[in-house]
Amino acid sequence: MLDVAKIRTDFPLLAREVYGRPLVYLDNAATTQKPRCVIDAIADAYTTVNANVHRGVHRLSQEATDRHEAARETVRRYLGAASAAEILFTRGTTESINLLATSFGEAFCHEGDEIIVSEMEHHSNIVPWQLLGQRRGTVLRVIPVTDDGRLDMEAFQRLFTPRTRLVSVAHISNVLGTVNPVEDVIRIAHAHGVPVAIDGAQSAPHIPVDVQALGCDFYAFSAHKVYGPTGVGVLYGRERWLEQMPPYQGGGEMIGHVRFSGTTWNELPYKFEAGTPDFIGTIATARALDYVSALGLPAIAAHEQSLVRRALDGLGTLPDVHIYGQPSSLISFNLGDAHPADVGILLDHQGVAVRTGHHCAQPLMERLGIPGTVRVSFALYNTEADVDAFLAALRRTAQML
Ligand code: PMP
Repeated sequence: MLDVAKIRTDFPLLAREVYGRPLVYLDNAATTQKPRCVIDAIADAYTTVNANVHRGVHRLSQEATDRHEAARETVRRYLGAASAAEILFTRGTTESINLLATSFGEAFCHEGDEIIVSEMEHHSNIVPWQLLGQRRGTVLRVIPVTDDGRLDMEAFQRLFTPRTRLVSVAHISNVLGTVNPVEDVIRIAHAHGVPVAIDGAQSAPHIPVDVQALGCDFYAFSAHKVYGPTGVGVLYGRERWLEQMPPYQGGGEMIGHVRFSGTTWNELPYKFEAGTPDFIGTIATARALDYVSALGLPAIAAHEQSLVRRALDGLGTLPDVHIYGQPSSLISFNLGDAHPADVGILLDHQGVAVRTGHHCAQPLMERLGIPGTVRVSFALYNTEADVDAFLAALRRTAQML
């Protein structure tokens, strides 16, 4: 069990008010608040070890490099990867998938080759593949979503052809909450000899992930959704793939030797990390992952699921609430015919922060035949009182509308 009252004192922002009311922050799937230890880690790194990494002979640069590389090792442990060389630092999930689409696409994709994604993907797992299509002539194949918000696994199996090059799917949908059966996705894809990339933006904060046990070939997540800083993301990639993929960007750090007659590449992971990395951010990210690991993802998941059950019970007592998908750490719903934005604004004025709209998943909205939803998403510091405040505010909102 989590001691949530104590945990909340670690998060300074949670003490603030909005419109003179205590903040009820239920937009955690968009970004999480930061514990004091992460905020302090940023100030501490700037105060004590700020020097550019990897290139310095001086003591400060060596200490900064050690802390940055220790952060990579923390991420490796968090994901259960075999080697720190398989952990690439990026700016976020979005850049991780763009790196993958560009570099994997360059190495392995040609005119007429196929990439499989699903109908429930975030735009960041759709558009990079469309851009690849414009450059290389690849084609997207789309796993349909069932009426109850799951991947249609029968249809998925029929999508494979000899031209399938990669499957890229979300672990947990940021709209539906559905926890996709990625083990089955990976087993089926591998039986066809096709590698699998997992968009872990919504799983890394909520459930234990072991990339080796899963057997996925790539896994992406964003630090800012796991109580870490903005501007840091991770792409895990199996060494055998990364070795065969060309650099994503050119510049310092990613080179072996530069000559005008031709340049060679650095070893993994540096081949994919051109320029000065956000080493202050990676150090703070490691602090966030240590914070989460110390509490334990199983305990965090149990706590968040109990909040979701309480919220679902409450929503069940309200007339005309339509819930979408398979809520896990988040719930998407609509209130009768009310526009989600109206519901969001009225909740906001009662101190309850939720997200409304298409959630960067317009194809899924089209599938559901709606303009958007209201989404409440939970984190380890949310309380039963937060749930009850949300339900009370929603009841008043329903009366006003
Ligand atoms: N994929 C999913 C499933 C997400 O929820 C998000 C964030 N909303 C992203 C990708 C993109 O993450 P970021 O904006 O941190 O790059």
